[in-house]
Amino acid sequence: MPIELGPFPAKPGYDTARALDRADPLRSHRDSFIFEDPEIIYLDGNSLGRLPSAAPEALNTAVRDHWGRGLISSWNERWWDLQLELGDALAPIIGAGPGEVIISDSTSVNLHKLASAALTRQGKAKIVTDDLNFPSDLYVLDSVARASGGSLHIVESDGTHGPTSGLADALDGDTALLSLSHTTFNSGFTYDMDGITSMAHEAGALVLWDCSHSVGVVPMQMDDWEVDLAVGCTYKYLNGGPGSPAFLFVRERLQSELTNPIHGWWAHEDPFALHPTFQPTDGMRRFHVGTMPILSLVTVEAGLAPVLEAGVEAIREKSVALTEYFIELTDSTLADVGFSLAGPRDADTRGSHVSLTHVDAWPLTRALIEVGKVVPDFRAPDSMRFGLAPLYTSFTEIHTAVHRLRQIIERQIHEEFRGIVSKVT
Ligand SMILES: *Cc1c(COP(=O)(O)O)cnc(C)c1O
Repeated sequence: MPIELGPFPAKPGYDTARALDRADPLRSHRDSFIFEDPEIIYLDGNSLGRLPSAAPEALNTAVRDHWGRGLISSWNERWWDLQLELGDALAPIIGAGPGEVIISDSTSVNLHKLASAALTRQGKAKIVTDDLNFPSDLYVLDSVARASGGSLHIVESDGTHGPTSGLADALDGDTALLSLSHTTFNSGFTYDMDGITSMAHEAGALVLWDCSHSVGVVPMQMDDWEVDLAVGCTYKYLNGGPGSPAFLFVRERLQSELTNPIHGWWAHEDPFALHPTFQPTDGMRRFHVGTMPILSLVTVEAGLAPVLEAGVEAIREKSVALTEYFIELTDSTLADVGFSLAGPRDADTRGSHVSLTHVDAWPLTRALIEVGKVVPDFRAPDSMRFGLAPLYTSFTEIHTAVHRLRQIIERQIHEEFRGIVSKVT
């Protein structure tokens, strides 16, 4: 017999949640997404955004018409520059100009390309980061620093907040590059991108931001804040689909000073002349390597549209309201059953996800998904992460999710899920 929560009586405060939804200026944007199972409360949009309503049709056209009928001619007609066009479409979301952004490869690969290019340009090889950065970023930065004969300096934090003063101390004359996650993947701490960028510049370092957890939900001004380099995912809050290629930003005046360490034909000044030697082209195309995954670019296009339509400022406003509401409910409903907030209380330093710790985080996550029909994600060893995607997450969903979680604990339902093993958490 599957365990069921049974009828779910409206809990105190439900009317408040409904009123917040009615007053939400972004509520109609939920229609830009597909809800295959309307019962599921999806709070994992910071790992894999929901399916945009326009994506299946766009993919179908790309497969049947452009691939099926157009065959190779579709490269000329529409595919060759698609990643540049989408880069320009994404640019306003991050406060960048045309010709400063491309879509290409994965975030990890783009980070490698840009960090390596930065070290070569700087003629030094020390990289500074913090221990809140995503592990893949730490691996990439470490390997890039070592390959240039330098090292990665990882500044320690308190586990939640970015160690700003520790970073200031670590930036010295040998430092080529400061690279950080804008919003950190676990606690959701969000750096003052403008201030930290200036701090790096004063120390003579370039700065490379990973915006995977902030792009599309936290406004940023790459040009005004004189950011040098940035990368980030398109499959999280930008809803580009599983494994969709990442973005890569290079400030215009640096483009000609940087060289892509991976010499591929897509970055050649004349790719179809098929020269035996590499000659990089100008502009952002020089940061490409090889052939683009066109079908994934098509879904990136479908994912960007609702974000551009709503506007990042409005999205941020709702994001702050959602995280504040979630934290308020955590304090009132979950604190006395063992949950603690593992992220910042100050909205100015928070992204759009909230992390809670609990000793039983893993069985609770499984029970919440299987029995509660609420999807968060789990981050070892003891945190549950709730990604609140403003385009499709409602206040009533948050209210229901929190109360279902409490009900699971009260009835000890998670005890049944202790031994479960899962490949992806
Ligand atoms: C999600 C995420 C990545 C993922 O990188 P991939 O190369 O796409 O697997 C990298 N960095 C950060 C900070 C992330 O949040």
